[in-house]
Amino acid sequence: TPVVAVVGRPNVGKSSLVNRVLGRREAVVEDVPGVTRDRVAYDASWLGRPFTLVDTGGWETDAEGMAASVARQAEYAAQAADVVLFVVDATVGVTDADAAVTRVLRSTRRPVVLAANKVDGAAQEAEAMELWNLGVGEPIAVSALHGRGTGDLLDAVAAHFPDREEEAGERASGEEGPRRIALLGRPNVGKSSLLNRLAGEDRVVVDPTAGTTRDAVDELIELGGITWKFIDTAGIRRRFRRLQGADYYATVRTSSALERAEVAVVLMDVSEPLAEQDIRVVEQVMESGRAMVLAFNKWDTLDEDRRYYLEKEIDRQLSRVSWAPRVNISARTGRHMEKLVPAIETGLASWDARIPTGRLNSWLKELVAATPPPVRGGRQPKILFATQADVRPPHFVLFTTGFLEDNYRRFIERRLREDFGFEGSPIKVSMRIRE
Ligand code: GDP
Repeated sequence: TPVVAVVGRPNVGKSSLVNRVLGRREAVVEDVPGVTRDRVAYDASWLGRPFTLVDTGGWETDAEGMAASVARQAEYAAQAADVVLFVVDATVGVTDADAAVTRVLRSTRRPVVLAANKVDGAAQEAEAMELWNLGVGEPIAVSALHGRGTGDLLDAVAAHFPDREEEAGERASGEEGPRRIALLGRPNVGKSSLLNRLAGEDRVVVDPTAGTTRDAVDELIELGGITWKFIDTAGIRRRFRRLQGADYYATVRTSSALERAEVAVVLMDVSEPLAEQDIRVVEQVMESGRAMVLAFNKWDTLDEDRRYYLEKEIDRQLSRVSWAPRVNISARTGRHMEKLVPAIETGLASWDARIPTGRLNSWLKELVAATPPPVRGGRQPKILFATQADVRPPHFVLFTTGFLEDNYRRFIERRLREDFGFEGSPIKVSMRIRE
Protein backbone atom coordinates (compact mmCIF):
# COMPACT_ATOMS: atom_id res chain seq x y z
CA THR A 1 0.00 0.00 0.00
CA PRO A 2 1.13 3.59 -0.58
CA VAL A 3 3.02 5.28 2.24
CA VAL A 4 2.12 8.79 3.34
CA ALA A 5 4.51 10.61 5.69
CA VAL A 6 3.36 13.54 7.80
CA VAL A 7 6.08 16.14 8.30
CA GLY A 8 6.30 19.60 9.82
CA ARG A 9 7.80 21.45 12.72
CA PRO A 10 6.61 20.82 16.30
CA ASN A 11 3.24 22.25 17.37
CA VAL A 12 1.73 22.66 13.95
CA GLY A 13 -0.74 19.92 14.81
CA LYS A 14 0.73 16.84 13.12
CA SER A 15 -0.47 14.41 15.77
CA SER A 16 -3.96 15.88 15.85
CA LEU A 17 -4.12 15.58 12.12
CA VAL A 18 -2.91 11.98 12.25
CA ASN A 19 -5.56 11.15 14.83
CA ARG A 20 -8.17 12.90 12.77
CA VAL A 21 -7.25 10.86 9.70
CA LEU A 22 -7.20 7.61 11.64
CA GLY A 23 -10.50 8.18 13.40
CA ARG A 24 -10.71 5.37 15.94
CA ARG A 25 -8.11 3.26 14.23
CA GLU A 26 -5.36 3.91 16.72
CA ALA A 27 -5.67 0.30 17.83
CA VAL A 28 -3.99 -0.94 14.69
CA VAL A 29 -0.46 0.26 15.27
CA GLU A 30 2.68 -1.34 14.08
CA ASP A 31 6.26 -0.45 14.66
CA VAL A 32 8.22 -0.42 11.47
CA PRO A 33 11.79 -1.40 12.20
CA GLY A 34 14.26 0.74 10.33
CA VAL A 35 16.26 3.88 10.26
CA THR A 36 14.50 5.71 13.01
CA ARG A 37 13.42 4.06 16.21
CA ASP A 38 10.49 6.34 16.87
CA ARG A 39 8.78 5.95 13.57
CA VAL A 40 5.22 4.74 13.91
CA ALA A 41 3.12 3.57 11.01
CA TYR A 42 -0.64 3.25 11.04
CA ASP A 43 -3.05 1.45 8.78
CA ALA A 44 -5.39 4.00 7.30
CA SER A 45 -7.76 4.14 4.39
CA TRP A 46 -9.53 6.71 2.30
CA LEU A 47 -12.47 5.87 0.05
CA GLY A 48 -11.57 2.23 0.17
CA ARG A 49 -7.90 2.82 -0.60
CA PRO A 50 -5.72 1.47 2.15
CA PHE A 51 -2.51 3.32 2.83
CA THR A 52 0.12 3.52 5.51
CA LEU A 53 0.34 6.73 7.48
CA VAL A 54 3.72 7.50 8.98
CA ASP A 55 3.74 9.89 11.92
CA THR A 56 7.06 11.64 12.35
CA GLY A 57 5.92 13.51 15.44
CA GLY A 58 8.32 11.69 17.72
CA TRP A 59 11.40 12.28 15.64
CA GLU A 60 12.42 15.70 16.83
CA THR A 61 15.70 16.28 18.58
CA ASP A 62 16.93 19.77 19.19
CA ALA A 63 20.65 19.05 19.48
CA GLU A 64 21.36 20.74 16.18
CA GLY A 65 18.72 23.43 16.26
CA MET A 66 15.10 23.07 15.42
CA ALA A 67 15.08 24.05 11.77
CA ALA A 68 17.89 21.67 10.90
CA SER A 69 16.47 18.69 12.76
CA VAL A 70 13.00 19.17 11.34
CA ALA A 71 14.48 19.39 7.86
CA ARG A 72 16.36 16.16 8.43
CA GLN A 73 13.21 14.50 9.68
CA ALA A 74 11.44 15.58 6.50
CA GLU A 75 14.26 14.14 4.43
CA TYR A 76 14.01 10.71 6.09
CA ALA A 77 10.27 10.73 5.75
CA ALA A 78 10.39 11.69 2.10
CA GLN A 79 12.80 8.86 1.38
CA ALA A 80 10.37 6.36 2.84
CA ALA A 81 7.16 7.82 1.49
CA ASP A 82 5.21 7.87 -1.74
CA VAL A 83 3.53 11.11 -0.75
CA VAL A 84 4.62 13.72 1.79
CA LEU A 85 1.96 15.52 3.80
CA PHE A 86 3.59 18.78 4.85
CA VAL A 87 1.78 20.46 7.73
CA VAL A 88 2.15 24.19 8.37
CA ASP A 89 0.42 26.34 10.97
CA ALA A 90 -1.58 28.89 8.96
CA THR A 91 -2.03 31.14 11.97
CA VAL A 92 1.75 31.52 12.39
CA GLY A 93 2.78 31.64 8.76
CA VAL A 94 6.08 30.56 7.25
CA THR A 95 8.92 30.09 9.76
CA ASP A 96 12.59 29.28 9.17
CA ALA A 97 11.89 25.64 9.91
CA ASP A 98 9.08 25.53 7.33
CA ALA A 99 11.36 27.10 4.76
CA ALA A 100 14.08 24.54 5.55
CA VAL A 101 11.61 21.67 5.12
CA THR A 102 10.50 23.12 1.80
CA ARG A 103 14.06 23.16 0.47
CA VAL A 104 14.58 19.53 1.45
CA LEU A 105 11.28 18.40 -0.03
CA ARG A 106 12.05 20.12 -3.32
CA SER A 107 15.28 18.20 -3.62
CA THR A 108 13.65 14.84 -2.91
CA ARG A 109 11.10 15.36 -5.71
CA ARG A 110 8.42 13.46 -3.89
CA PRO A 111 4.84 14.62 -4.38
CA VAL A 112 4.02 17.06 -1.58
CA VAL A 113 0.58 17.96 -0.30
CA LEU A 114 0.55 21.13 1.77
CA ALA A 115 -1.84 21.24 4.73
CA ALA A 116 -2.56 24.70 6.13
CA ASN A 117 -3.65 23.69 9.61
CA LYS A 118 -5.56 25.54 12.33
CA VAL A 119 -7.95 27.09 9.81
CA ASP A 120 -10.79 26.71 12.29
CA GLY A 121 -12.98 29.31 10.65
CA ALA A 122 -13.30 31.84 7.86
CA ALA A 123 -10.96 34.22 9.69
CA GLN A 124 -7.91 32.06 8.99
CA GLU A 125 -8.65 31.32 5.35
CA ALA A 126 -6.72 34.32 4.03
CA GLU A 127 -3.75 33.34 6.20
CA ALA A 128 -3.84 29.89 4.66
CA MET A 129 -3.62 31.39 1.19
CA GLU A 130 -0.36 33.15 2.16
CA LEU A 131 1.23 29.73 2.19
CA TRP A 132 1.22 29.73 -1.59
CA ASN A 133 4.47 31.64 -0.99
CA LEU A 134 6.20 28.45 0.05
CA GLY A 135 6.14 27.38 -3.57
CA VAL A 136 5.01 23.80 -2.97
CA GLY A 137 1.59 24.18 -4.52
CA GLU A 138 -1.89 24.84 -3.25
CA PRO A 139 -2.30 25.09 0.51
CA ILE A 140 -5.27 23.04 1.58
CA ALA A 141 -7.00 24.66 4.52
CA VAL A 142 -7.78 22.21 7.30
CA SER A 143 -8.65 22.17 10.94
CA ALA A 144 -7.29 19.04 12.59
CA LEU A 145 -9.20 20.13 15.66
CA HIS A 146 -12.63 20.28 14.02
CA GLY A 147 -12.01 17.94 11.12
CA ARG A 148 -12.73 20.60 8.57
CA GLY A 149 -11.11 20.13 5.16
CA THR A 150 -9.55 16.77 5.96
CA GLY A 151 -11.62 15.04 3.27
CA ASP A 152 -10.29 17.41 0.62
CA LEU A 153 -6.82 16.94 2.02
CA LEU A 154 -7.05 13.18 1.73
CA ASP A 155 -8.41 13.51 -1.80
CA ALA A 156 -5.31 15.50 -2.69
CA VAL A 157 -3.07 12.91 -1.04
CA ALA A 158 -4.85 9.99 -2.71
CA ALA A 159 -4.52 11.67 -6.10
CA HIS A 160 -0.82 10.76 -5.95
CA PHE A 161 -1.43 7.08 -5.24
CA PRO A 162 -0.71 4.63 -8.03
CA ASP A 163 -3.73 3.66 -10.13
CA ARG A 164 -6.09 1.23 -8.50
CA GLU A 165 -5.57 -1.15 -11.37
CA GLU A 166 -1.89 -1.36 -10.58
CA GLU A 167 -2.52 -2.52 -7.06
CA ALA A 168 -2.93 -6.24 -6.62
CA GLY A 169 -6.18 -7.35 -5.12
CA GLU A 170 -8.18 -4.37 -6.26
CA ARG A 171 -10.99 -5.00 -8.71
CA ALA A 172 -10.17 -3.13 -11.91
CA SER A 173 -13.15 -2.06 -13.97
CA GLY A 174 -14.24 -5.01 -16.05
CA GLU A 175 -12.35 -7.38 -13.79
CA GLU A 176 -13.48 -11.00 -14.01
CA GLY A 177 -13.84 -13.53 -11.28
CA PRO A 178 -16.06 -14.05 -8.28
CA ARG A 179 -16.99 -11.05 -6.20
CA ARG A 180 -15.45 -10.87 -2.77
CA ILE A 181 -17.41 -10.92 0.46
CA ALA A 182 -16.08 -10.39 3.99
CA LEU A 183 -18.24 -12.02 6.64
CA LEU A 184 -17.65 -9.94 9.76
CA GLY A 185 -18.87 -9.67 13.31
CA ARG A 186 -17.70 -10.01 16.87
CA PRO A 187 -17.09 -13.50 18.31
CA ASN A 188 -20.12 -15.76 18.76
CA VAL A 189 -22.55 -13.88 16.56
CA GLY A 190 -22.71 -16.99 14.36
CA LYS A 191 -20.22 -16.40 11.55
CA SER A 192 -19.01 -19.97 11.27
CA SER A 193 -22.55 -21.32 11.68
CA LEU A 194 -23.68 -19.13 8.80
CA LEU A 195 -20.69 -20.09 6.71
CA ASN A 196 -21.41 -23.76 7.24
CA ARG A 197 -25.02 -23.36 6.33
CA LEU A 198 -24.17 -21.39 3.19
CA ALA A 199 -21.38 -23.67 2.09
CA GLY A 200 -22.54 -27.17 2.86
CA GLU A 201 -19.38 -29.21 3.22
CA ASP A 202 -19.30 -30.73 -0.26
CA ARG A 203 -19.48 -27.43 -2.08
CA VAL A 204 -16.54 -25.85 -0.31
CA VAL A 205 -13.50 -25.15 -2.42
CA VAL A 206 -10.52 -23.90 -0.50
CA ASP A 207 -8.69 -21.21 -2.36
CA PRO A 208 -5.26 -20.43 -0.92
CA THR A 209 -4.56 -16.85 -1.96
CA ALA A 210 -0.99 -16.01 -2.78
CA GLY A 211 0.54 -12.93 -1.30
CA THR A 212 -2.00 -12.33 1.40
CA THR A 213 -1.80 -12.82 5.12
CA ARG A 214 -0.03 -16.11 5.57
CA ASP A 215 -2.94 -18.04 6.97
CA ALA A 216 -5.73 -16.25 5.14
CA VAL A 217 -7.75 -18.77 3.20
CA ASP A 218 -10.71 -17.83 1.06
CA GLU A 219 -13.55 -20.10 0.07
CA LEU A 220 -15.51 -20.16 -3.13
CA ILE A 221 -19.17 -20.76 -2.37
CA GLU A 222 -21.99 -21.05 -4.86
CA LEU A 223 -25.17 -19.24 -3.89
CA GLY A 224 -28.15 -18.63 -6.11
CA GLY A 225 -26.29 -19.95 -9.14
CA ILE A 226 -23.38 -17.54 -8.67
CA THR A 227 -19.95 -18.23 -7.27
CA TRP A 228 -18.80 -15.90 -4.51
CA LYS A 229 -15.46 -15.61 -2.83
CA PHE A 230 -15.68 -15.45 0.95
CA ILE A 231 -12.55 -13.76 2.28
CA ASP A 232 -10.42 -15.25 5.03
CA THR A 233 -12.80 -17.95 6.11
CA ALA A 234 -9.86 -19.73 7.75
CA GLY A 235 -9.91 -16.97 10.34
CA ILE A 236 -13.60 -17.64 10.97
CA ARG A 237 -13.37 -21.39 11.13
CA ARG A 238 -10.20 -21.50 13.16
CA ARG A 239 -11.54 -19.51 16.09
CA PHE A 240 -8.21 -17.76 16.49
CA ARG A 241 -10.08 -15.03 18.29
CA ARG A 242 -10.49 -16.95 21.47
CA LEU A 243 -6.76 -16.79 21.99
CA GLN A 244 -5.07 -14.11 23.98
CA GLY A 245 -5.14 -10.63 22.48
CA ALA A 246 -8.21 -11.69 20.56
CA ASP A 247 -9.62 -8.18 20.33
CA TYR A 248 -6.53 -6.76 18.76
CA TYR A 249 -6.25 -9.53 16.22
CA ALA A 250 -9.93 -9.39 15.43
CA THR A 251 -9.55 -5.73 14.53
CA VAL A 252 -6.49 -6.33 12.39
CA ARG A 253 -8.09 -9.34 10.77
CA THR A 254 -11.24 -7.39 9.98
CA SER A 255 -9.27 -4.61 8.37
CA SER A 256 -7.20 -6.97 6.25
CA ALA A 257 -10.31 -8.89 5.16
CA LEU A 258 -11.91 -5.55 4.25
CA GLU A 259 -8.91 -4.57 2.19
CA ARG A 260 -9.54 -7.51 -0.10
CA ALA A 261 -13.33 -7.51 0.01
CA GLU A 262 -15.83 -5.57 -2.04
CA VAL A 263 -18.79 -6.02 0.23
CA ALA A 264 -19.06 -6.77 3.93
CA VAL A 265 -21.82 -8.74 5.58
CA VAL A 266 -21.82 -7.63 9.21
CA LEU A 267 -23.43 -10.22 11.38
CA MET A 268 -25.07 -9.26 14.67
CA ASP A 269 -26.60 -11.40 17.39
CA VAL A 270 -30.16 -10.36 18.28
CA SER A 271 -30.20 -12.53 21.40
CA GLU A 272 -27.98 -9.94 23.07
CA PRO A 273 -27.92 -6.14 23.20
CA LEU A 274 -25.87 -4.51 20.46
CA ALA A 275 -22.35 -4.21 21.80
CA GLU A 276 -19.70 -1.58 21.35
CA GLN A 277 -17.77 -4.21 19.43
CA ASP A 278 -20.63 -4.57 16.92
CA ILE A 279 -20.60 -0.83 16.32
CA ARG A 280 -16.84 -0.85 15.95
CA VAL A 281 -17.05 -3.43 13.16
CA VAL A 282 -19.70 -1.36 11.38
CA GLU A 283 -17.48 1.71 11.70
CA GLN A 284 -14.53 -0.19 10.26
CA VAL A 285 -16.63 -1.10 7.25
CA MET A 286 -17.75 2.53 6.85
CA GLU A 287 -14.17 3.72 6.92
CA SER A 288 -13.14 1.11 4.37
CA GLY A 289 -15.63 2.44 1.82
CA ARG A 290 -16.94 -1.05 1.09
CA ALA A 291 -20.55 -1.96 0.38
CA MET A 292 -22.36 -3.25 3.47
CA VAL A 293 -25.22 -5.54 4.43
CA LEU A 294 -26.40 -5.84 8.03
CA ALA A 295 -27.49 -9.35 8.96
CA PHE A 296 -29.31 -9.85 12.25
CA ASN A 297 -28.73 -13.45 13.24
CA LYS A 298 -30.36 -15.78 15.79
CA TRP A 299 -33.78 -14.37 14.87
CA ASP A 300 -35.22 -17.68 16.13
CA THR A 301 -34.50 -16.51 19.70
CA LEU A 302 -36.40 -13.25 19.41
CA ASP A 303 -39.48 -12.54 21.51
CA GLU A 304 -41.75 -9.47 21.40
CA ASP A 305 -39.99 -7.66 24.21
CA ARG A 306 -36.53 -8.08 22.89
CA ARG A 307 -37.73 -7.16 19.43
CA TYR A 308 -38.99 -3.83 20.71
CA TYR A 309 -35.66 -3.01 22.33
CA LEU A 310 -33.72 -4.20 19.31
CA GLU A 311 -35.53 -1.72 17.12
CA LYS A 312 -34.68 1.07 19.55
CA GLU A 313 -31.04 0.00 19.59
CA ILE A 314 -30.89 -0.06 15.82
CA ASP A 315 -32.46 3.40 15.56
CA ARG A 316 -30.08 4.78 18.11
CA GLN A 317 -26.81 3.07 17.23
CA LEU A 318 -27.01 2.31 13.54
CA SER A 319 -28.69 5.43 12.19
CA ARG A 320 -25.52 6.43 10.34
CA VAL A 321 -25.78 3.32 8.20
CA SER A 322 -29.48 3.49 7.51
CA TRP A 323 -28.44 3.01 3.86
CA ALA A 324 -27.34 -0.57 4.49
CA PRO A 325 -29.89 -3.28 3.66
CA ARG A 326 -30.94 -5.41 6.62
CA VAL A 327 -31.79 -9.08 6.68
CA ASN A 328 -33.18 -10.90 9.68
CA ILE A 329 -31.86 -14.44 9.59
CA SER A 330 -31.23 -17.56 11.59
CA ALA A 331 -28.18 -19.62 10.73
CA ARG A 332 -29.70 -22.34 12.92
CA THR A 333 -33.10 -22.70 11.25
CA GLY A 334 -32.18 -21.31 7.84
CA ARG A 335 -34.72 -18.50 8.13
CA HIS A 336 -34.48 -15.92 5.31
CA MET A 337 -31.24 -17.34 3.94
CA GLU A 338 -32.60 -16.60 0.47
CA LYS A 339 -32.66 -12.87 1.24
CA LEU A 340 -28.95 -12.62 1.81
CA VAL A 341 -27.76 -12.82 -1.79
CA PRO A 342 -30.21 -10.23 -3.17
CA ALA A 343 -29.12 -7.83 -0.41
CA ILE A 344 -25.45 -8.39 -1.29
CA GLU A 345 -26.19 -7.88 -4.98
CA THR A 346 -28.04 -4.64 -4.23
CA GLY A 347 -25.06 -3.35 -2.26
CA LEU A 348 -22.58 -4.23 -4.99
CA ALA A 349 -24.72 -2.71 -7.74
CA SER A 350 -24.84 0.57 -5.79
CA TRP A 351 -21.13 0.39 -5.11
CA ASP A 352 -20.46 0.05 -8.86
CA ALA A 353 -23.03 2.62 -9.94
CA ARG A 354 -22.16 5.60 -12.07
CA ILE A 355 -24.47 8.51 -12.80
CA PRO A 356 -23.82 9.99 -16.23
CA THR A 357 -22.50 13.56 -15.96
CA GLY A 358 -25.36 15.02 -17.98
CA ARG A 359 -28.00 13.46 -15.81
CA LEU A 360 -26.16 14.40 -12.63
CA ASN A 361 -25.92 18.04 -13.66
CA SER A 362 -29.51 18.47 -14.76
CA TRP A 363 -30.56 16.93 -11.45
CA LEU A 364 -28.22 19.25 -9.57
CA LYS A 365 -29.39 22.34 -11.43
CA GLU A 366 -32.94 21.71 -10.37
CA LEU A 367 -31.92 20.98 -6.79
CA VAL A 368 -29.81 24.13 -6.47
CA ALA A 369 -32.51 26.30 -8.05
CA ALA A 370 -34.98 25.09 -5.42
CA THR A 371 -32.53 25.20 -2.53
CA PRO A 372 -29.48 27.41 -3.18
CA PRO A 373 -26.39 27.13 -1.02
CA PRO A 374 -26.44 29.46 2.00
CA VAL A 375 -24.77 32.84 1.64
CA ARG A 376 -21.40 32.92 3.30
CA GLY A 377 -19.42 36.07 4.12
CA GLY A 378 -21.86 38.12 2.06
CA ARG A 379 -21.27 35.94 -0.99
CA GLN A 380 -23.46 33.38 -2.59
CA PRO A 381 -21.30 30.41 -3.58
CA LYS A 382 -22.29 29.02 -6.96
CA ILE A 383 -22.06 25.40 -7.89
CA LEU A 384 -20.56 25.36 -11.37
CA PHE A 385 -20.92 21.69 -12.12
CA ALA A 386 -20.58 18.24 -10.66
CA THR A 387 -19.02 15.03 -11.76
CA GLN A 388 -18.81 11.53 -10.43
CA ALA A 389 -15.08 11.17 -9.98
CA ASP A 390 -15.06 7.55 -8.92
CA VAL A 391 -16.98 4.36 -8.31
CA ARG A 392 -16.54 1.65 -5.69
CA PRO A 393 -17.80 3.58 -3.86
CA PRO A 394 -19.42 6.45 -5.79
CA HIS A 395 -17.63 9.73 -5.19
CA PHE A 396 -19.07 13.01 -6.39
CA VAL A 397 -17.14 16.23 -6.76
CA LEU A 398 -18.84 19.63 -6.83
CA PHE A 399 -16.95 22.49 -8.48
CA THR A 400 -17.92 25.71 -6.74
CA THR A 401 -17.02 29.38 -6.54
CA GLY A 402 -16.93 29.36 -2.75
CA PHE A 403 -17.00 27.23 0.34
CA LEU A 404 -20.13 25.15 0.84
CA GLU A 405 -21.19 24.61 4.41
CA ASP A 406 -20.96 21.01 5.59
CA ASN A 407 -24.69 21.07 6.15
CA TYR A 408 -25.27 21.85 2.53
CA ARG A 409 -22.92 19.12 1.37
CA ARG A 410 -24.76 16.66 3.57
CA PHE A 411 -28.04 17.91 2.15
CA ILE A 412 -26.81 17.10 -1.36
CA GLU A 413 -25.64 13.69 -0.21
CA ARG A 414 -29.04 12.99 1.29
CA ARG A 415 -30.84 14.05 -1.86
CA LEU A 416 -28.53 11.95 -4.02
CA ARG A 417 -29.60 8.95 -1.98
CA GLU A 418 -33.26 9.88 -2.12
CA ASP A 419 -33.25 10.29 -5.88
CA PHE A 420 -30.70 7.72 -7.03
CA GLY A 421 -30.78 5.11 -4.27
CA PHE A 422 -27.30 3.77 -3.59
CA GLU A 423 -28.75 1.29 -1.12
CA GLY A 424 -25.96 -0.71 0.44
CA SER A 425 -23.09 1.56 -0.58
CA PRO A 426 -21.41 4.51 1.08
CA ILE A 427 -21.21 7.62 -1.10
CA LYS A 428 -19.02 10.64 -0.83
CA VAL A 429 -19.55 14.26 -1.84
CA SER A 430 -16.60 16.61 -1.91
CA MET A 431 -15.97 20.01 -3.42
CA ARG A 432 -13.36 21.90 -5.39
CA ILE A 433 -13.34 25.64 -5.14
CA ARG A 434 -12.50 27.60 -8.29
CA GLU A 435 -11.98 31.31 -8.36
P1 GDP B 1 -18.77 -17.06 15.42
O1 GDP B 1 -17.87 -16.87 16.59
O2 GDP B 1 -19.30 -15.73 14.96
O3 GDP B 1 -18.22 -17.86 14.33
O4 GDP B 1 -20.08 -17.81 16.03
P2 GDP B 1 -20.47 -19.37 15.96
O5 GDP B 1 -20.92 -19.72 14.59
O6 GDP B 1 -19.38 -20.15 16.57
O7 GDP B 1 -21.77 -19.36 16.87
C1 GDP B 1 -21.73 -19.03 18.24
C2 GDP B 1 -22.88 -19.71 18.95
O8 GDP B 1 -24.13 -19.20 18.49
C3 GDP B 1 -22.93 -21.22 18.71
O9 GDP B 1 -23.29 -21.81 19.92
C4 GDP B 1 -24.01 -21.38 17.66
O10 GDP B 1 -24.65 -22.63 17.75
C5 GDP B 1 -24.98 -20.27 18.03
N1 GDP B 1 -25.77 -19.80 16.88
C6 GDP B 1 -25.32 -19.46 15.66
N2 GDP B 1 -26.32 -19.05 14.85
C7 GDP B 1 -27.46 -19.18 15.57
C8 GDP B 1 -28.87 -18.92 15.29
O11 GDP B 1 -29.30 -18.51 14.20
N3 GDP B 1 -29.75 -19.15 16.31
C9 GDP B 1 -29.34 -19.60 17.53
N4 GDP B 1 -30.28 -19.77 18.44
N5 GDP B 1 -28.05 -19.84 17.81
C10 GDP B 1 -27.11 -19.65 16.86
